[in-house]
Amino acid sequence: MSLGLRGLSVRYGSTVAVAEAELTIADGEVVALLGPSGCGKSTLLRAVAGLEHPAAGTVCWDDDDLAAVPVHRRGFGLVFQDGQLFPHRDVAGNVAFGLRMAGIDRAAAAERVTELLGMVGLAGYESRSVTSLSGGEQQRVALARALAPRPRLLLLDEPLSALDRVLREQLAIDLAALLRTTRTTTLVVTHDHDEAFTLADRVAVMTQGRLRQIGPPDEVWRLP
Ligand code: ADP
Ligand code: ADP
Repeated sequence: MSLGLRGLSVRYGSTVAVAEAELTIADGEVVALLGPSGCGKSTLLRAVAGLEHPAAGTVCWDDDDLAAVPVHRRGFGLVFQDGQLFPHRDVAGNVAFGLRMAGIDRAAAAERVTELLGMVGLAGYESRSVTSLSGGEQQRVALARALAPRPRLLLLDEPLSALDRVLREQLAIDLAALLRTTRTTTLVVTHDHDEAFTLADRVAVMTQGRLRQIGPPDEVWRLP
């Protein structure tokens, strides 16, 4: 059970946003993609999700090329910088969304919703309107929604960047614990060094469309 990028390149016209990326993410592993704004992190993540088509190379799950597998059939969970919650549904309705789409009945979905809200520190929030929540709470709901259907891979694009510093640090610690407890295989994009190091088993450093170094945080840290 692993994600593989094999010579993955993505272009926008003449701009090469991702160049020949090679990366394997093992079962249960958390990899942070770290690099400055504009280096191609989001594009790489979007290609993994199936939101961008590679100009060359492949995104694989085990040995299967996912090129012909559309976004909603990849079995991946997605969270963006601003959670993109459904404003007209309450918290439970948001978290249950993927479960209901997967045909899970109301009662089973409600049980799973309650379990997930407990895990993200929002026990009892089922009937709250999402528009009444703080930014940090909204991101917790977005995480619960993404995790509810037990995705085989979780893709996080700057999930904490919209939050203020104190909240970001606390949520990074909580998120790291949550990913470990659930053993969720994760690719998280961030430009924040501390966040990458708090969350990840391995850090992949990207500049100008290329993955430059990939290794455990303490090894990447020591490189010049
Ligand atoms: P990052 O996530 O690291 O900030 P992006 O993946 O968003 O970087 O962008 C990588 C490069 O691709 C940048 O040069 C950016 O301007 C360009 N780019 C991103 N999205 C598009 C798009 N939809 N159309 C054209 N160029 C884009
Ligand atoms: P639908 O009517 O299509 O099921 P809703 O937005 O009303 O859509 O609810 C979505 C799901 O969220 C429900 O099926 C249920 O599983 C769950 N849910 C809704 N309200 C609650 C609640 N107060 N507590 C727990 N789960 C809830």
